[in-house]
Amino acid sequence: LFEGLAHKLQETLRKLKGKGKLSEADVKQAMREVKLALLEADVNFKVVKDFINSVTERAVGQEVMMSLTPGQQVIKVVNEALTELMGKTKTDINISSKDLTVLMLVGLQGSGKTTTAGKLANYLKKQGHSPLLVAGDIYRPAAIKQLQIIGEKAEIPVFAMGDKNKPVNIIKRSLEFARSKGLNIVIIDTAGRLHINDELMEELKEIKLEVEPDEILLVVDAMTGQDAVNIAQTFNYQLSLDGVILTKLDGDTRGGAALSIKAVTNCPIKFIGVGEKLEDIEPFHPDRMASRILGMGDVLTLIEKAQVNIDLEKAKEFEKRLKNQQFTFEDFLEQLQYVKEMGPISHIMEMIPGFNSGKLKGLNVDDKELVKIEAIINSMTKQERMDPSIINGSRRKRIARGSGTKVQDVNRLLKQFFQTKKIIKQFGEMEKGYKKRKFPF
Ligand code: GDP
Ligand code: MG
Repeated sequence: LFEGLAHKLQETLRKLKGKGKLSEADVKQAMREVKLALLEADVNFKVVKDFINSVTERAVGQEVMMSLTPGQQVIKVVNEALTELMGKTKTDINISSKDLTVLMLVGLQGSGKTTTAGKLANYLKKQGHSPLLVAGDIYRPAAIKQLQIIGEKAEIPVFAMGDKNKPVNIIKRSLEFARSKGLNIVIIDTAGRLHINDELMEELKEIKLEVEPDEILLVVDAMTGQDAVNIAQTFNYQLSLDGVILTKLDGDTRGGAALSIKAVTNCPIKFIGVGEKLEDIEPFHPDRMASRILGMGDVLTLIEKAQVNIDLEKAKEFEKRLKNQQFTFEDFLEQLQYVKEMGPISHIMEMIPGFNSGKLKGLNVDDKELVKIEAIINSMTKQERMDPSIINGSRRKRIARGSGTKVQDVNRLLKQFFQTKKIIKQFGEMEKGYKKRKFPF
């Protein structure tokens, strides 16, 4: 995420941290670097100016300069300012406890509305709500089908009436349908256009007027940088938005949109899209994002992701097997599935403190590696998976051939497996040493 910006900011701040005492000149030099990094990240010019002024003022203040750890205090100031810039605290969707909540997604073609409608519905369903997806894009031939496929996958009902009715009528009918079925959230997928034009805005305004959605959320592609900010400004002016969902953050190396939208439009970013899959959506936490950018990790999001994706019963069972040292490749494969469902591995690594900077590159953990490991385990027989000690030379060759990998790859995996097992064994013995059950770390 925002590799360039993250790297530069971390570099600059590390230099400050290393100094025992700071002079005003040191701070000003650092702020020049921060300014350049933000501008290169395509952050809005005026936003950068205000940001630098505010941070400089705070950083050269008595409190920071006279403190015992001025470098760290400056980092704290930058962290706070970045958090404020992105909206300070998380802004939730307002879901009514009594009545139907209607969410309308708007945005240009290709911004990710249909995908996001599905992701959002899936997310809200996991929180215990009963959403309905509504196919309000009747112009793109495949749009209705696309939503239906997503709905099927997420097991969420989709309301569609073909392409012969006006969107506003379809939507009105969908509300009746939702009420009759006892559903509590309606998520409307609307049509976009390649560019903002009057036809699009008139259509959306008509829906707004007649349907009165509880929230109008703009879906916008983060990779378009300042264009995204301009689009948000126009949509907000025309429709007065309740929030923004920033998509494709997984492909956004710069971060200009994420850092400017709230400051320029005053619309909060409510969610971010971080991939193409149904699970690739996260509520937007300005503080956590700031901390990720500054390389301080985001352990909270990591834990939340794990909680959503891991079946608690299975986890308990797994823990029991671990304790009895019955850990096999079958378990390994299952754990791998969980990791994969949590999203791209590079994205997960970023949430671990200290991983954001250049270090990640040298580690060579990527999704391709996971695919390889999976292929290797899949090429093992059941017996081999349960008892890897029987995997001799000729079996290794066969597994490599079957999985399209090299014998070295198989060797490496086996070595890692036995090492892991050994560590687990040591933990087990450590644990036995204590009377009460304790985590080994
Ligand atoms: P719409 O025209 O606004 O409805 O956009 P779609 O939902 O059809 O999405 C357009 C393309 O963007 C599709 O290929 C999606 O898979 C992709 N997409 C949407 N959100 C994300 C995201 O957060 N990350 C990535 N990498 N791709 C996304
Ligand atoms: Mg669409």
